[in-house]
Amino acid sequence: MIGDGMLNTATIGNGMLNTAMDLWENGGNLVLSKTDLRENGDDLTARSSEIGSVTARRRSSFRVTSDRSRPPPLRLRVVDSSSLTARLLPARLLRTVRCFLPQALKGQCACVLSGVGFISPVQDSSSSSKRIRVDFDLENLPSDPGLRQKISSYHPNNHDEIRRYYLAKGPCQPVHDYPISHFSGKPRRFRSEWYVDRNWLEYSIDKDAAFCFYCYLFGQDVGKQGGGDTFITKGFKLWNQLAKLESHVRGVNSAHNHAVKKSEDLLKEKQHIQSVLVKQSNQDKLDYRVQLNAIVDCIRFILCRGLAFRGHDESQVLQRVPKNCKLTHSDIQKDIVNAIARETSKVIIKDLENGFFSILVDESRDISVKEQMSLVLRYVNKKGIIIERFLGVVHVASTTALSLKNAIECLLCEHNLSLSNLRGQGYDGASNMQGDINGLKTLILKENNSAFYVHCFAHQLQLTLVAVAKNHINIAEFFYVVSNLVTVVGGSCKRRDALRDAQFAKIREDLENGVRRSGQGLNQETNLKRPGDTCWGSYYGTILNLILMFSAVVDVLEIIEEDGLSDQKVEARSIMRRPRRNTQQNTNLHHYRAELFYTVIDMQLQELNNRFSEANTDLLRCMACLNPSNSFVAFDKEKLIRLAKFYPSDFLGTDILALDSQLQNYIFDMRSNDLFLELQGVSELAEKLVSTRKHETYPLVYLLVKLALTLPVATATVERSFSAMKYVKNELRNRMGDRFMNDCLVVYIEKDVACSIDNETIMQRFQDMKTRRRQL
Ligand SMILES: [Zn+2]
Repeated sequence: MIGDGMLNTATIGNGMLNTAMDLWENGGNLVLSKTDLRENGDDLTARSSEIGSVTARRRSSFRVTSDRSRPPPLRLRVVDSSSLTARLLPARLLRTVRCFLPQALKGQCACVLSGVGFISPVQDSSSSSKRIRVDFDLENLPSDPGLRQKISSYHPNNHDEIRRYYLAKGPCQPVHDYPISHFSGKPRRFRSEWYVDRNWLEYSIDKDAAFCFYCYLFGQDVGKQGGGDTFITKGFKLWNQLAKLESHVRGVNSAHNHAVKKSEDLLKEKQHIQSVLVKQSNQDKLDYRVQLNAIVDCIRFILCRGLAFRGHDESQVLQRVPKNCKLTHSDIQKDIVNAIARETSKVIIKDLENGFFSILVDESRDISVKEQMSLVLRYVNKKGIIIERFLGVVHVASTTALSLKNAIECLLCEHNLSLSNLRGQGYDGASNMQGDINGLKTLILKENNSAFYVHCFAHQLQLTLVAVAKNHINIAEFFYVVSNLVTVVGGSCKRRDALRDAQFAKIREDLENGVRRSGQGLNQETNLKRPGDTCWGSYYGTILNLILMFSAVVDVLEIIEEDGLSDQKVEARSIMRRPRRNTQQNTNLHHYRAELFYTVIDMQLQELNNRFSEANTDLLRCMACLNPSNSFVAFDKEKLIRLAKFYPSDFLGTDILALDSQLQNYIFDMRSNDLFLELQGVSELAEKLVSTRKHETYPLVYLLVKLALTLPVATATVERSFSAMKYVKNELRNRMGDRFMNDCLVVYIEKDVACSIDNETIMQRFQDMKTRRRQL
């Protein structure tokens, strides 16, 4: 850390120093441009306050440059604590460099600047003031308007790219459970209705404040806004003075409207200086459109199949393409992939329509041992169908509950979603993350008490199965023998062949004797597979095969016992000659039914009871009352009202009363309507309610149905996303960047959505991302 003593001269030079020190400690890059190193800093001292605004210390590199001229940057690389190396450092500038690296580095480094000599630690309090630019990374640009940096804090060369990024994304308008503030005793808060007809209005969940989208992007270029800097940096919070929102826009010539105009101009390709410089004939444009179309088609093909962007010879394909516009550069292709992925997510979020959703989260390591967190949304769409959609993967540095929650919030915010619409969260509690996930669950529940946590049912059932299998001695012994048997019999290729031959001979004999029937799909070649401990379904498959091949297995065991190596002989014999149970008192039937079957069922029940918590069981029991099977036999009004009370933010006091009467009419209607009598399960009920438009008649009942369906059941979709990740980022593509991998995965997993987007949308998005040399 930087000591106080080094900050005592409150000049801009020390601001630099801070940065330099920080970088130096982290071994990062410090990029200085020539003009910054001018000794005369008087004209820049006025900007000293801006240095304070550069708080993004965690970024690994800063750019220091003056506004007026942009000479090629000069690198001063801070290598480690013992040496400093620099390139292209003229002797004239050396004196200035001394100003920047004075006493902080004193003693700690001998400041060897290669090629230019030696810098001794000199203190100079009259150092010049500089503006520090923050390097940026499109991946990490914050979505929340309260968290983003001023545009002017980035390098001027990047301004347009950043603006395009935000413009493509659109204003941040999350629907959130906005907190209430009091104005002279009266409670007031932000309202999502204000977004209507105000496409400039943004809301920051982090700061609970409103911002202006366009003034943020272009405010610095157009001068004074209505409301000063409020809508750009500080954020508007006076919810009782709605008129201020109107006065921000003001007349045609207001600063705000200028900013809007500038944003529109930025996206008009024809007006860009480059389009004027590079003349393009209509034929060129037509050709470009054809090329881009073809490339988008190719990329779509590759992405939907999870293939790599590789090829060794495209000369045949690219014969007629102009040499300077092949569109095969990796950056271009990544931009197109990004455009497809973002359009895909946009369709998904549009389908969600600001409704309730629940999240399924899991984390896993990818091939390059990076911890990746995957997030899936579950919601009921407007047709009443349950949808689970993959939202994205995020690389998380640490897996503590807090950092996971932050990553989730960031990802949701990027898609204009807020935690306040969350109605359920599902994780697999079986992983070693359980403690942290519990923490994550609690953290989210603290913010939103309707986000009920469901421990993945598939994992729970698996766990009960495993618990019983491990705890019951007879069962455990049985599985031990089975896996031993598989090891001995299937141990080598030779033995597998012997097993296959024995099975073949057996089948032929049976067929000749007429014991077995022949036909399509019958008597296929089978094998004994090793069961896996994490996938208990595999035991079932193994046992089935074992029953099928039993006599062949015994044959092979006998062969091993005779011809095998000594230890194999012992194993085979121990399996064959397993001591028999004492059968004097009990019949087999009694033993298997009373001693095994009943005890196991008992243990299962106990285990299941232990696994489901009291509150969750109550919730689930109430939900079961929605079940329409057998003419709504499970219907129970009291329980459904109790269910409504689980969601206090969706059912206010008056709603509960209304629900009471709605439920009475609803059940009478349902039981007397033929259309609803054959339904199986709540999901069919929801679809039927929507298709018959009954959901408009009974809105509160439909809300209950929706909430019940939104609750996650199993985390299978997340697990599937990890399977996709293994397929897309495999050993051959293990250097894939995080953003590129995420984009590939979004398209690969949600290919049905991605295929529904037309090329025109994607091409337009691609064009808007950066200034392109060619126009559509
Ligand atoms: Zn504005």
